[in-house]
Amino acid sequence: MEPTQAKPQTKFNTKSETKPKANLKTKKIIKQQTQTQTHAQLAEGFLSNQLKASWFNKSIWYQRDKRDVATKKLNEWETLRELASDIKAHTLSKLDEYLIEFEEKATANGINIHWASDDKEHNEIATNLLKKHNAKKVVKSKSMLSEECELNHHLENNGIEIIESDLGERILQFSGEKPSHIVMPAIHKTKEEIGELFEEKLNTKKSNDPVYLTQAARLHLREKFINADASMSGVNFAVAETGSFVLCTNEGNADLGLTANSKLHIASMGIEKIIPKQEHLGVFVRMLARNATGQPITTYTSHFTKPNKGSEIHIIIVDNNRTKLLAEEKFNSSLKCIRCAACMNTCPVFKNSGGHSYNFVIPGPIGAILAPAHDIKKYEDMPFASTLCGSCSNVCPVKINIHEQLYDWRQEITQRKSSFTIKSIMMKGGAFVLSHTWMYRLFGKIGGFFVHNFRKISTMATPWGKGRELPDVPKESFKDWWDNNAKK
Ligand code: SF4
Repeated sequence: MEPTQAKPQTKFNTKSETKPKANLKTKKIIKQQTQTQTHAQLAEGFLSNQLKASWFNKSIWYQRDKRDVATKKLNEWETLRELASDIKAHTLSKLDEYLIEFEEKATANGINIHWASDDKEHNEIATNLLKKHNAKKVVKSKSMLSEECELNHHLENNGIEIIESDLGERILQFSGEKPSHIVMPAIHKTKEEIGELFEEKLNTKKSNDPVYLTQAARLHLREKFINADASMSGVNFAVAETGSFVLCTNEGNADLGLTANSKLHIASMGIEKIIPKQEHLGVFVRMLARNATGQPITTYTSHFTKPNKGSEIHIIIVDNNRTKLLAEEKFNSSLKCIRCAACMNTCPVFKNSGGHSYNFVIPGPIGAILAPAHDIKKYEDMPFASTLCGSCSNVCPVKINIHEQLYDWRQEITQRKSSFTIKSIMMKGGAFVLSHTWMYRLFGKIGGFFVHNFRKISTMATPWGKGRELPDVPKESFKDWWDNNAKK
């Protein structure tokens, strides 16, 4: 069944009564990425360190290789993909019904449900809940939604200390960076860099031994878990039928947060995380880790249905432009995404330009189709960061036609642009030249002369050319060669 526009009856009943005020000197730990830089400019910066760029490329491809091995072990892999895609399409077509069913079941289980129309409302709800419980220290497991809402920054401005409990995220919190990948957020950092960072932040001895560094991080984080006042997490899957939610991690950090600080847990959930029935979980859980890291299943796949006695669980269900995307018939299947990151790991552009070259919170091919739905003007260059090779669509476990959507977004963006750009002028000029034989030949000769004599300038002239080596042009064109030789 194809998805249609749904209108979840969200209840925005938790607006803050008072505007939160900064009561602590804000410690700026997140460097805001320069929103004015384009993907091409950011990629150029990434490629300036060739050694690191090549190492990053290999690390990402290693994940893709592991994924291929794991998926080939399942004869029914393609059947699972079909099933997963159909379940998600069906869910999106009845999203309002399943969200309400989830709310009813979760509430009956003793979980508190809140609805947030956007990032600001999400942050206010979370802050008010934490303040109400007098929580000053919070541990949080990895959640791309909280990154999307820039929650950490908001909490710090409200005097609440937030500790990322996922190792990769904690490393980035130390270094003041944003994630460069949705599954392995610190994949761009070498063990040497992490060793130096831990020396500075955790007083470790000089070392780049991953075992030593992981042990140091574990000790550091255990202390944070024990002393935290509350915990936060994302949601991987929410089951409408049971009102429960599932968290998948490899470190058990989400579970530790929930159990060590069982007084208050807040989970942030995008409206698209719903699946109808418990039996559907088997499809997605079998696919998620295999497609992400090549594991048969994540080390911890934890189900939460009701709070422990004397404690509270709150789920904030967030829209933040998702219903707007649901109304876009050509693009709404991107809401099927289960954030496995396989499309990134296979993407030649992602591997060669790095995750930070995408200005949106979700990088790679899926980010490039989600970003313009959030703000078409701000992210207008993102759908162009692709070769349209289609590898992303081939690996996607929920069969999103990513490369076709990238192409469609390009058309939307070009059509919605009112002013003439250099690109559109050049395209029109190119069409004129290609439709006149004599002009095509003339420009062929001029272009050949230019490239042969000024090769460096030719590659520096466009963002695409930078970082590439243009081969020299042959001395004669194929037509000249044909005229001179074929008739002999
Ligand atoms: S678009 Fe598909 S491949 Fe990419 S992260 Fe989402 S589910 Fe995974």
